[in-house]
Amino acid sequence: MELTRENFIKELTRVFDINGIGTYLNDSVCDKFYRLTMRMLEENQKYNLTAITAPEKIILNHYADCVVMARAFDVGASVIDVGCGAGFPSLPLAIVRSDLKILAVDSTAKRVRYVAETAELLGLDNVSTRVMRAEEGGRDAALREKFDYATARAVAELRILAELCLPFVKVGGKMVAMKGKNAERELTDAKNAISVLGGGNVTVESVTLSDGGEESLSHPLIAVRKKAKTPTVYPRVYAQISKKPL
Ligand code: SAM
Repeated sequence: MELTRENFIKELTRVFDINGIGTYLNDSVCDKFYRLTMRMLEENQKYNLTAITAPEKIILNHYADCVVMARAFDVGASVIDVGCGAGFPSLPLAIVRSDLKILAVDSTAKRVRYVAETAELLGLDNVSTRVMRAEEGGRDAALREKFDYATARAVAELRILAELCLPFVKVGGKMVAMKGKNAERELTDAKNAISVLGGGNVTVESVTLSDGGEESLSHPLIAVRKKAKTPTVYPRVYAQISKKPL
């Protein structure tokens, strides 16, 4: 696909409609996704932001994949995107849900700088950013148990992710993780971690997205409700989290 504004918006609309998320689109949202694509591809030439560079694949694998999560969040909620990388899911979520207040964090400074500059360029004043290791942020009183939701895509296996994310979530809030094909096993392995960290009810929703042709992707969206405060000894330092997962 030649990346003209018209072609892009046509494809974005087609793919979002096929996947039942077309209602999130309007002129301003389409324009922001187009400008995000131009910016990401331009910056991707300077440093690695995404391995996916074909616009139609970006629409399916990055944008639709993130926007499909949007319905998981209550109106006006605060969300921390742990390990945001090039802004996924934070930037697509911020584009379609201007009511959300999103903090995008990552341990890599240049990715966070890219997300901050991109949010400013697109006028996304519902996004703020921070360079931070999640396990350090989770011990910071200003961030600990301050968010309605913690979300993460492609950051770590679930029992590790639970220790990185659940400390940020208020009691009554949720961790919402997009997982891959090993989700069932990860969930079994993470049962203890979830319980120790204050997690309660877990729901798993299978999400399948298609471009209407041969391309499709499928993954479970795992939501963990927080029912009790996280004990103060968690999160531990990363070496312990990864070597001795709960
Ligand atoms: N969420 C993005 C996406 O779906 O495209 C990025 C995924 S990338 C595979 C994983 C990201 O998590 C990297 O940018 C990495 O720097 C970040 N990360 C991994 N462990 C982290 C930690 N403990 N604290 C903060 N960021 C972390």
